[in-house]
Amino acid sequence: MKPAPKKNLRVDNLGEFGLIRQLQGVIGPARGSVVVGIGDDCAVMRGGHPDKYLLYTCDPVVEGVHYRRSDPPRRIGWKAMARNLSDIAAMGGKPNWAVVSIGLRRDTRAGWVKELYAGLRAAARKFDCQIVGGDTTHVKHEQFVVVALVGEVERTRMTSRDGARVGDSILVTGKLGGSRRGKHLTFTPRVNEARWLVGNFPVHAMIDLSDGLFSDLQRLVEASRPGTAFEIHAAEIPIARAARGSLTAALRDGEDFELLFTIDPREVTALRKKWARRFALELTEIGRVVRSRRKVTIITVNGSRKPLAPAGYDHFATS
Ligand code: ADP
Ligand code: MG
Repeated sequence: MKPAPKKNLRVDNLGEFGLIRQLQGVIGPARGSVVVGIGDDCAVMRGGHPDKYLLYTCDPVVEGVHYRRSDPPRRIGWKAMARNLSDIAAMGGKPNWAVVSIGLRRDTRAGWVKELYAGLRAAARKFDCQIVGGDTTHVKHEQFVVVALVGEVERTRMTSRDGARVGDSILVTGKLGGSRRGKHLTFTPRVNEARWLVGNFPVHAMIDLSDGLFSDLQRLVEASRPGTAFEIHAAEIPIARAARGSLTAALRDGEDFELLFTIDPREVTALRKKWARRFALELTEIGRVVRSRRKVTIITVNGSRKPLAPAGYDHFATS
């Protein structure tokens, strides 16, 4: 006999992935004008424009989870906007309009809120995006900022998580790890780089690194055709200075907000050349898309192949 399903599992037993999968069941499949529903960096819809898709994303920042109470409000605002801009970038899109909802304790200074908005606006303005509304509520304990962002992307350039092809090269922008030591509040979302990439090269699949390279590789694999797998060279992973030489930190720390994408290996030489002329940011080839049952394999410095145990950032994991 099959064991009875446990009705009252806690969210930390389910994990973030498990919970979202259950929610997906409640919401039902995407239909009508929805091109991509749950499962990518943004939802993708057919709007009024015949050549473009609308992109829609919504990420919160919560006091004590995504920032500390003592962090400068301008940086908190920057981060709240930039996380969302990063998800638009991951689809190859251009961010256009944002609404912002905030939860404030009653004794919060008006000056703090104005600084928060200066940060939100600075990040939005950098990419020609406008804040067009929102909502305000009071909270009893932790404050929060929720940004919802609408962007657009040319239909032919839209880059989802599910397009990785066996044989593709896997590339990553910037350097990874140690973001919690400061960069997580000041990072630049890779909107310009993503727009340039999708405008100049056929990018097959793309994701922004929000939960750590390993965890986000897993997401890309999960979204890919069955049998598609990734092989990553440990020696190639670009480690940020803040990660202090730790490969583990580069693999597992969250909030890098760099781009991870796959492209035909024959494009890589031209891409590197053109990229170097356009951007100072690092661009590194870290591995290949292969056909394998083992989803993510890491090739160590001495050439041995090891599976990576799943353990990126999960909002409900307790360890
Ligand atoms: P990201 O980190 O890029 O914002 P995730 O990988 O965390 O995206 O989320 C995976 C998918 O789950 C996304 O398509 C997102 O819209 C969806 N999702 C996450 N939380 C919820 C929720 N509470 N309700 C509905 N969809 C959700
Ligand atoms: Mg994302």
